[in-house]
Amino acid sequence: MAAQAAAEPCGVRQGVSLQAFTTWKVGGPAEWFAEPDSQEELITLAAWAVGAGLPFRCIGAGSNLLIADTGLGGLTLCNRRLQGSRSDSKEGWVEAEAGEPIPTLARKVARAGLHGLEWAVGIPGTVGGAVVMNAGAQGGCTADWLESVRVLDPARPEAPFTLEARELDFAYRHSRLQEEPLIVLSARFRLAAGHDPAEITARTSANLQCRTSTQPYQQPSCGSVFRNPEPRKAGQLIEGLGLKGMSVGDAQVSPLHANFIVNTGNARASDIDSLIRLVQERVRDEHGIALHTEVKRLGFEAVETLRPRT
Ligand SMILES: Cc1cc2nc3c(=O)[nH]c(=O)nc-3n(C[C@H](O)[C@H](O)[C@H](O)COP(=O)(O)OP(=O)(O)OC[C@H]3O[C@@H](n4cnc5c(N)ncnc54)[C@H](O)[C@@H]3O)c2cc1C
Repeated sequence: MAAQAAAEPCGVRQGVSLQAFTTWKVGGPAEWFAEPDSQEELITLAAWAVGAGLPFRCIGAGSNLLIADTGLGGLTLCNRRLQGSRSDSKEGWVEAEAGEPIPTLARKVARAGLHGLEWAVGIPGTVGGAVVMNAGAQGGCTADWLESVRVLDPARPEAPFTLEARELDFAYRHSRLQEEPLIVLSARFRLAAGHDPAEITARTSANLQCRTSTQPYQQPSCGSVFRNPEPRKAGQLIEGLGLKGMSVGDAQVSPLHANFIVNTGNARASDIDSLIRLVQERVRDEHGIALHTEVKRLGFEAVETLRPRT
């Protein structure tokens, strides 16, 4: 295989289980895996993957991912070591590396008296993942505050470039980065300066408190599994059908919040996948509504083609 013939860069490992890299705590091995310590290292790794003809993807905190038990071919890069940020509390902006946890960033800017990211404190993802997903909560979302992103095209890893927020086709939990294989290296947010740090910090903490009391934060999950079929709420539809508590193996529709599926012990990705399909079937049969997943499924393509059509 071409990839084995080429000398892999330092830090690349083979057959690494991805379980520890997803908040659902499921997922098989990555054929090749690395956690770059710097953007330069990431660029070297991308160039190696391209040269070796390997499929290549980047993950953040794995808080919106269902990775198949069979794992992922090619190179999987986890960005979580690419942390750090700088801000200007007078001019009102912050720039953060893609692996910076978005709750960490929300707290930092609150302490600097910058208003804008109070909604982000309860979202356990990275800045890169928040941009790709247009993550949002409690009335705010990434698109509202993002100014620009620095991205890498794996086909031209030597030439990172900047995209303005308006070029990202943001919509509800969507950006064009979900369709294009661009890697987010860093993001710049335009925030509102001159606020009282104590007030912004208190609002940020209250947002977190509100979420942890209404959502199952103590159990492995991926947050909301389904997109809301506006104007309806996925959680209300699922709860209305009495599906809270329904299980496949150790995957369970959360008794606390019906749009969450929790791993109560040793769930496999296939258990979660089956439960997702059962919920979709019930909602379609009872309401004629197609629920689409917000969660990104990786590595299911091969399984899909083997599954008999019904
Ligand atoms: C308890 C809990 C609560 C949650 N609540 C919310 C909520 O309120 N609102 C909300 O919107 N989401 C929520 N989520 C879902 C999740 O946290 C968000 O979607 C988050 O933005 C994902 O970020 P991540 O770093 O974990 O991305 P990942 O899950 O690692 O990846 C998500 C997608 O982004 C891609 N990606 C990640 N980083 C990069 C990068 N640097 N460059 C290119 N592509 C990249 C991946 O390939 C994948 O397609 C919740 C999840 C949990 C577990």
